[in-house]
Amino acid sequence: MSLMGQMMHMPLLISSLLTHAARHNGDVEIVSKRVEGDMHRTTWSEVELRSRKLAQALARLGLKAGERVGTLAWNGYRHLEIYYGVSGSELICHTVNPRLFPQQVAWIINDAEDKVLFVDLNILPLIEKLIPSLPTVKAVVVMVARSHMPAETAIPNLLCYEELIEAEDGHYTWPQFDENTAASICYTSGTTGNPKGAVYSNRSTVLHAYAAALPDAMSVSTVDTVLPVVPMFHVNAWGLPYSGALIGCKLVLPGHHLDGASLYDLFEKEKVTFSAGVPTIWLGLINHVKQNNLKFSTFKRTVVGGAACPPAMIRTLEDEFGVQVIHAWGMTEMSPLGTLGRLKSKHADLPVEAQHRLLEKQGKVIYGVDMRIVDAEGQVLPWDGKTSGDLEVRGHWVISSYFKVDKSPLHDGWFPTGDVATIDADGYMQVTDRSKDVIKSGGEWISSIDLENVAMGHPAVHEAAAIAAFHPKWDERPLLVVVKKPGAEVTREEILAFYDGKIPKWQLPDDVVFTDEIPHTATGKIYKLKLREQFKDHNLPTV
Ligand code: AMP
Repeated sequence: MSLMGQMMHMPLLISSLLTHAARHNGDVEIVSKRVEGDMHRTTWSEVELRSRKLAQALARLGLKAGERVGTLAWNGYRHLEIYYGVSGSELICHTVNPRLFPQQVAWIINDAEDKVLFVDLNILPLIEKLIPSLPTVKAVVVMVARSHMPAETAIPNLLCYEELIEAEDGHYTWPQFDENTAASICYTSGTTGNPKGAVYSNRSTVLHAYAAALPDAMSVSTVDTVLPVVPMFHVNAWGLPYSGALIGCKLVLPGHHLDGASLYDLFEKEKVTFSAGVPTIWLGLINHVKQNNLKFSTFKRTVVGGAACPPAMIRTLEDEFGVQVIHAWGMTEMSPLGTLGRLKSKHADLPVEAQHRLLEKQGKVIYGVDMRIVDAEGQVLPWDGKTSGDLEVRGHWVISSYFKVDKSPLHDGWFPTGDVATIDADGYMQVTDRSKDVIKSGGEWISSIDLENVAMGHPAVHEAAAIAAFHPKWDERPLLVVVKKPGAEVTREEILAFYDGKIPKWQLPDDVVFTDEIPHTATGKIYKLKLREQFKDHNLPTV
């Protein structure tokens, strides 16, 4: 008979992250730019106390274990308190992306059957419009003090956040329960079909928080000042509110001020060392810093993910600003972290160019996640860095089923990501495309990401997107859509010539069109579906 381990069993609960932060790094600051317009400063210990009061308030509102509490809020300390007050008291925190279409917001809230909504003041008008179509919502809490509450409202039961907190005494002990209990829900962006809910458990969230902080992952520690630009409604700000508590670092929460000037100001004033966000956010910040001849004095590292980070952006951040870029890949269904671009010790002596090539890939998996690539028949493909196939994953923080969906999304015990990728012999994964965005030219596949990455390296290009355009002979051929940098001039021919020697000739876009703006999804990715729609009647000159 096997001998069982004789170690304590303590459930991996989200509340334990916060109690640790309060006990061991209680005086470390949480700084927030508020919707009210001012800066607010608090500490981990204060956040912990107020989260307990919030848990009491939620119980007083009659919420029962397992019920869903929705948030429509930017990154700020109250949102952080809700994360912990809700999940810590056996309720489920459902972060809703307020940038989605209103009908989608309503659909998601109804699907999750949210009982209470916590809403930032400047998002309230959206909920006022939607409230008649939200039958499960019993109360809406505005995340402000009484003095900022609206004088009039169409919402029947409108409550004030600070009043809820003030009414409680904080004599509350975080309950202990099964670590597999659900903690939070995030919906996939649902650019095709209805969004689907990924339900994270306390256990998966704590394990993800551990792994995300590791030196080979985000590499954050208590000496860092962390500013998550990635919103708390985009896969829980990639776990930073949890990893932040685990390491007890200072957090700087930017609210809804995500333009280059506001971010730069916050980075400098609060001495931010580490950040994380999607590529489009960095475009704005880089432009601002360049145009005003500025420098970062403390900012050292950033995780860029959620969409492919163009190599030109990595070079700019590293060479011109001294900010190390950690390219990361993941998805809502993975909490989100899967892989990160970090070198191995054997790469230390490689020429810098070769190191760059490796770091531009989406990277290696962290322990806790495994991956493989398979062909259309489900046969496992080799790790040679050339063969591309459908990327599948499994692990401690990978979903096994979607909320309220009976049909299993798994294939042979693995989760099919919908991404197409190569993996090299050292385990470096590179995403070539979302499978539905691949450009299928006469049976051969062209990676839209490759085409975009080259274009983004052109000095006159602000943003570029490659999409499939109809071609009678090849079915699809690449069309490049370009937004020029302000004041820059460049022609179609110059852009096409820029591809010389950088990609195989047959992959060259058949046409380049210039536009003022490329549409983005609510999480800041290029909205390929809409772009294809927009250019569906485009006549390629090669036809
Ligand atoms: P979401 O669930 O909205 O975060 O979207 C996940 C999807 O974003 C992935 O399946 C990828 O298609 C894409 N994605 C995320 N990170 C990257 C990356 N670093 N490079 C390329 N695609 C990415």
